[in-house]
Parts: sequence; C-alpha cells; structure tokens
Amino acid sequence: MPELPEVETTVRALRRSILHKKIKSASASAHQLFENKQLFKTIGAILRGDTFISIGRHGKYLIFLLKSGRVMLAHMKMTGHFLVRDKRQETSNKDKYIRFMIDFADGGALLFSDLRKFGRIWLMPKSHLGKFFQQRRLAKDALSSGFTEEYLHTQLISPRPVKSLLLDQTRIAGLGNIYSDEVLWTSRIHPLRKGSSLTEAEVKRIFKAIGAILKLGIKTGGSSIRDYRKPDGSPGYFQTKRRVYQRGGEPCPRCGAKIKRIVIAQRGTHFCPRCQNL
Ligand SMILES: [Zn+2]
Repeated sequence: MPELPEVETTVRALRRSILHKKIKSASASAHQLFENKQLFKTIGAILRGDTFISIGRHGKYLIFLLKSGRVMLAHMKMTGHFLVRDKRQETSNKDKYIRFMIDFADGGALLFSDLRKFGRIWLMPKSHLGKFFQQRRLAKDALSSGFTEEYLHTQLISPRPVKSLLLDQTRIAGLGNIYSDEVLWTSRIHPLRKGSSLTEAEVKRIFKAIGAILKLGIKTGGSSIRDYRKPDGSPGYFQTKRRVYQRGGEPCPRCGAKIKRIVIAQRGTHFCPRCQNL
C-alpha cells in the first residue's frame, strides 16, 4: 500500500504536470471509487471547465484544490496510483486498470490506475475538508510541523504493540507497513514492545527514525515493491534501501543475525531479534 513517501512523490510530480490546466472532461469506469454513488455519473459534469490550482497531502490522502472552491480528495489504498499522460503518449499495457480519467484541454490526461479497486475519490467544498478528516479522526501528518517528539510520545501511550500504534492513522498519519518496520529497526525497538513501556530516549529514537526514513523514502521516489509507480510510470527505488521489510531469513545489516517475520495487527512484521530485543 502506498505510504507517505509514495503519496508525497505523487503530489510533487502532479504539481509539475497538471496544475492550471483546463479540464475538458472526466469519467470513471468503476463505481467502487466513490462512496457517494451519484458521483460516478456526475463527476464529469462537475469537473468540466475547472482547473487544479494546488495539490497537497495529509497522511496518505491527496488533496487537489480546484479553482471553483471544490476539493478532490483521493486515497490510493492498496494498488491505486496516478499516472500522467501527455498527448503524444501511446496507451500503455497497464491501461486495463484505469478506473478514472481526467482529460485536459491541452491534450494531456490524469489517470488513476487501480488493479484491486480499493482506491477512493471524494469531491467536496473546501470548507468540508476539516470535518471530513475530523470524522475519520485523522492524526497529525508525520512530516508536518505539528508532529513533534512530545506529540509522538502522547500517541504512543497505550498497552498495544508499538508496531500497531505506528500503523494507526488516528495516532500518526502517513506510516504504513514498510516504513514502520524500517523505523523500528532503525530505532532498535522490538515491534511487540508495548507503547506505554517505551522510555523517553526510545521515543526520541523513534521520532528521529520516522523523519529520516520518510525523507529517504521521498528522496528515492518511494517503494515500488508491487503496483506503485510514479506518475511518469517509472518505479521508485526505496525497496533497494530497505533493511528488514520482506527480508525474513536474510542477515541483519547491523549485526548479522537472521531477520524474523511475525504477524502483528494482521500485517507481516520484520525485525532483527538481536538488535531489537524485547
Ligand atoms: Zn541485528
């Protein structure tokens, strides 16, 4: 599933390619994309003639601000990703998974490809955005200025395993399975440690690791282990930098012990039993 670095990489690429272009038409081929079922039919008429004036992100949500004062929100979920096509490009072989498409007046297009159809798109007035995130109890974004060491400490006060707390979007917005495993390995914390048992020094290590790992993720264009691609169709290369994620049985890059895989909160979790002891 795309996490903060993949979403941020997508946002930056889309800012370079689709801002201020007039929308000629929009259409969807999968009703599952929309919680508001009417939108499946009406989104084309609503978006026609509008333009994206800014693109941002909160956690794993993409926020597209339109000139009309509307906001288009998107969540890529499991296999969704945005692709940008300019007028000269041929149809690619992934096109059978295109579920949503916006054509611009200049001949280019924004496509949403999603093999599993878990991705979601919402359209709302900008003024509803705060309420939308509030209803979902979405936490502070892991790279925002409000995300401080003190804030992280309060979010980790819980008897649940630290791994499941890092995945919880109502505590920290943006982390998912890959980057959580990398953060815990970097900070030498066992994924089953109870959040409330962490010392101040350990929380500090986790805080620093979150910033460092997410920034490395962005710098490398994200992880393209499965479906995720950058909007130009090319893969990111964070997967070549990962130390533990999906490396069960391989030697720990720090101490040489065999990396273990266990399941926490239904997610495969990878760690070094020697450097991350309980
Ligand atoms: Zn180790």
